[in-house]
Amino acid sequence: MMAQYLEIKAQYPDALLFYRMGDFYEMFFDDAVAASEALDIALTKRGKHEGDDIPMCGVPVHAAEGYLLTLIRKGFRVAVGEQLESPEEAKKRGYKSVVKRDVVRLVTPGTLTEESLLEARRHNYLAALARVRDDWALSWSDISTGAFHVLPLARARIGAELARLAPSEVLVTDTVDEDLRGVLGDLGIYPTVLGAASFDSTGAENRLCHLFGVASLSGFGSFARVELSAMGALVDYLDITQKGKLPLLQPPRQEAVSRFMQIDAATRRNLELTHSMQGGRAGSLLSVIDRTATAAGARLLERRISSPSRDLDGIRGRLSAVQWGFDTNQAHSLRDMLRRVPDMDRALSRLGLDRGGPRDLAAVRNTLTQAEAISRMLSGQDLPGLIAEAAGALTGHDALLERLDAALVAEPPLLVRDGGFIAAGYNADLDAARMLRDEGRGVVARMQAQYAQETGIGSLKIKHNNVLGYFIETTSTHAEKMLGLSDRFIHRQTTANQVRFTTVELSELETRILNAGSEALEIEKRLYDSLKAGILDRAPALAETALALAEIDLALGLGDLARERDWVAPRVDDSRAFHVEQGRHPVVEEALRRAGEPFIANDCDLTIEGEGSAVTLLTGPNMAGKSTYLRQNALIALLAQIGSFVPAASAHVGLVSQIFSRVGASDDLARGRSTFMVEMVETAAILNQADDRALVILDEIGRGTATYDGLSIAWATLEHLQAVNRVRGLFATHYHELTQLAGKLDGVKNATVAVKEHGGDVIFLHEVRDGAADRSYGVQVAQLAGLPRPVITRARAVLTALEKGERERTSPKALIDDLPLFSAAALTPAPVAAKKGPSEVETRLEALLPDEMTPREALQALYELKALL
Ligand code: ADP
Repeated sequence: MMAQYLEIKAQYPDALLFYRMGDFYEMFFDDAVAASEALDIALTKRGKHEGDDIPMCGVPVHAAEGYLLTLIRKGFRVAVGEQLESPEEAKKRGYKSVVKRDVVRLVTPGTLTEESLLEARRHNYLAALARVRDDWALSWSDISTGAFHVLPLARARIGAELARLAPSEVLVTDTVDEDLRGVLGDLGIYPTVLGAASFDSTGAENRLCHLFGVASLSGFGSFARVELSAMGALVDYLDITQKGKLPLLQPPRQEAVSRFMQIDAATRRNLELTHSMQGGRAGSLLSVIDRTATAAGARLLERRISSPSRDLDGIRGRLSAVQWGFDTNQAHSLRDMLRRVPDMDRALSRLGLDRGGPRDLAAVRNTLTQAEAISRMLSGQDLPGLIAEAAGALTGHDALLERLDAALVAEPPLLVRDGGFIAAGYNADLDAARMLRDEGRGVVARMQAQYAQETGIGSLKIKHNNVLGYFIETTSTHAEKMLGLSDRFIHRQTTANQVRFTTVELSELETRILNAGSEALEIEKRLYDSLKAGILDRAPALAETALALAEIDLALGLGDLARERDWVAPRVDDSRAFHVEQGRHPVVEEALRRAGEPFIANDCDLTIEGEGSAVTLLTGPNMAGKSTYLRQNALIALLAQIGSFVPAASAHVGLVSQIFSRVGASDDLARGRSTFMVEMVETAAILNQADDRALVILDEIGRGTATYDGLSIAWATLEHLQAVNRVRGLFATHYHELTQLAGKLDGVKNATVAVKEHGGDVIFLHEVRDGAADRSYGVQVAQLAGLPRPVITRARAVLTALEKGERERTSPKALIDDLPLFSAAALTPAPVAAKKGPSEVETRLEALLPDEMTPREALQALYELKALL
């Protein structure tokens, strides 16, 4: 057995091998050590290998899914090795034969299909990144729903696209460079490395043709080599992990970067689209706007938020659908029906991979039943295009539904081998088998009555013993009569007082009773297979119905949200307008609402007529609401382009091509880069990429370095955005000096978040008004934050002196020298600080001329200076 184990294990060096032994999956050697630690289960030993104990641990098969989930979440891959025959079969092959085993599936994060291993409301993408010379392409698939896409892209966009998709696994070749590894690492993705053969584009074409059963791929579109390479690698990997059982993939959809609003990884994080900064779904935009009733609807919304559209007709179509969801008085009943719609996409994928069960058949039936009901409810109405189209895709499965309805019980068990999922009355053989199994005795009794009547022997009995099995018994007195009926009653035995017979019918009945249980199960299995085939035949049409339901669900969900939260339909067009009246931040507003506090709505106008740009410089103290204002406007643009209503009194959005959002120097120490460096890298990306349809949100850019450096960088950045990129932008800054640019640079204006001062305290009004902030109220905010009173007093003194100095144009150094020391100021009446002459270090430093020194002299000077301390 160990030899077999080692042979299989050698083929899966990167995975933990689950080795099936009866009711357990066992792991040995290093696998056992790693798994026992990861799963927190006991490590034992079993036998010896080359003189050493073999470490071992195991998990029961019936609970394996939970353990699998833990292992996958911890970054393991698991090869599931099953027994391919029963121990009896193995014995037949020879006295010492080991049961045949092989890996039936390689479980990896990107190839899960089990309900319990997946998040229902999220996609689970597997992606492949290919390169052919200087061309790149990304292909991705959610095998639990069958979606399959490919996208040619520039190297620079890889990070952004991966951030959009957030795949759980990315396939790359072994030639992947350090830089790309860095990009993946930043996104928290561990690459799965495949050999070059998997990415070979010629082989890929064959593989894909084979998969889709076509002679050429041209019916699906024309694909570049690099696209074929990416798709081929993905399909090859599915083949490896699913051991030849390929999932029901939809034909590949070619994507183009230009169809979507581009949002890079930093912006996604920053705007907290699908995950909050803390990492969870709670607190994200998605969590606040998701009112879908079905898992497929939720996944559709996630897809839309991750990839807002740039297609005007598409957006308007979606907006009309939401308008319908907003208006319809059937919303309540429709959503009630949708709540009863199971996850048909995932059921279909499990059936396709032969990993499904009776519940997946029922999921299809229940979905189709609800789809019918919804279609009836929508019929005869004047519906907007998208919804009318969806409604049309709900029906057309009558024959299948009828069949499933007749065949299945209301609530079938999970596994085929549990049996009992086919309804009574559907199949005569099955009914008979079940009747025999359940009512064996009753059938015998009826046969006994029938024989008694036939023979006229009232005392005739059918009995059972271990030697004869079932037999017919009469007293010896009737022996003659019975023997006379010998063409029907076959004599078996004569005892002192009785004679025993059997009939062909009875012995058949006996075998049937004995086999009835297993026969019933066999029939059920056959019926299961045939129902499954009936479903898979119609898989593409069923997938369309599933998408139609998701589309209706989403329109109703967004409509409900808009009605309840008072959102409006945005006006979206091809202009470069951006004009929001009384806009709100959906997530902050929700949080404040829970706390019973009002959100102050604010206007924003960045509309550009003709050429040029429109940038608003926003100043105001910390905590005034600058970040909130910036983000709310970015979110309104994004919501408009997913085709949702927006949190505002009115909104006019000219199509936005890209959204960039940056926050100055947030801590990114985990990634080992200086915060300022990160900030600059991200700013560079905007300046290099933003086009004249971009919306740019910059929050305190430049604050990560010394004042004048930061101011200069912010200054130059603003000028570049205005003159070269010509964007619509919001720029929050601490540098009041920048506000002077308004009026000088075309399209740049000032706005400030108003505060009120009251007895030395500040009150935040959260109102955005025209004009620049007069001061930053930092000291007051510090006081609110609970800085000790002496520090506040001292800070006020320093500030007053600095401001006075600025007015009188004294140098800051002289000012600071004149200020009393902290301890003195805070605790005692101020004595005048003694003035000292320059120290020897200062004198020597003053005399140094760095431009004229060699490095060696400079180092020497440094040593000498140090020695003087
Ligand atoms: P800043 O960026 O100016 O430091 P934030 O945008 O982080 O300020 O806002 C600070 C807090 O003020 C937020 O957490 C929120 O609770 C509150 N706030 C911001 N904007 C508003 C608003 N428009 N209405 C009500 N409260 C707001």
